[in-house]
Amino acid sequence: TLEGRTALVTGSTSGIGLGIARMFAEAGARVMLNGLGRPEEIAAARRAVGAAMGGGEAPYSDHDLSRPEAVRAMVAAAEQALGRVDILVNNAGIQFTAPVEAFPEEQWDRIIAINLSSCFHAIKAVLPGMKARDFGRIVNISSAHGLVASPFKAAYVAAKHGLLGLTKTVALEVAETGVTCNAICPGFTRTPLAEAQVVAAARERGISEEQALTEVVLAKQPSKRWVEVREVARLALYVCGPDTASLNGAALSIDGGWVAA
Ligand code: NAD
Repeated sequence: TLEGRTALVTGSTSGIGLGIARMFAEAGARVMLNGLGRPEEIAAARRAVGAAMGGGEAPYSDHDLSRPEAVRAMVAAAEQALGRVDILVNNAGIQFTAPVEAFPEEQWDRIIAINLSSCFHAIKAVLPGMKARDFGRIVNISSAHGLVASPFKAAYVAAKHGLLGLTKTVALEVAETGVTCNAICPGFTRTPLAEAQVVAAARERGISEEQALTEVVLAKQPSKRWVEVREVARLALYVCGPDTASLNGAALSIDGGWVAA
């Protein structure tokens, strides 16, 4: 249970972040959402998570995490709306694929900014309060691509590997406090981001989406099925729940056996 806890979940208007926000709210936490997207999508997310908190709309920040000052403003808004931030889930992330020699420099910079640097800025902003209260849970959503690579994902793989390095460093710095910092490394998870990759792969290879799903997902993931959002959310809930003080600096795989191969 997360009764009495407060949580800021970045990139929580869709996919894994929304699943985590909803499950945390159902477990009793007060949650602030963040993310971009269509207004009706954001409103639906706020209502869904608000309902899980007992009614109304969940608090929400529209800050664009590609900018450091916006990350800091988001944390300040969360501290204002929730009173404090007990749990930070760094989940916002984007993808872009191209061979490295054709990889657009602005896409490299954007992915590093959102998938890696925003996590640093958010952790830096929440840590003083967590340390002062001697409690905090920081959960970084990395990826199987934080542990192994795939072609055409230079920026994403570099950012997700970097995020595991950041996770371990922060874990060492908070090891004697009531704060922990861990990473979750999902395999292909059924979300808009991953489903778009199936569509893109089908287009690139001139094959059907069904075939692309088989060739993209099943080739990497020994389970030969999607990881479901609720499976990732359940793991994040565990990391933030009771009896986890010694779980620190870990990279927790939930990938149908991907990195075991
Ligand atoms: P998604 O596209 O469904 O959701 C991404 C969220 O991030 C959205 O809420 C979006 O608005 C937000 N976001 C994007 N750019 C932003 C910005 N500049 N500022 C603020 N918010 C921004 O994606 P998802 O699949 O749920 O991915 C969530 C996380 O999980 C990402 O970090 C992703 O790398 C990671 N991940 C996903 C998979 C997968 O297969 N889906 C696998 C491993 C890791």
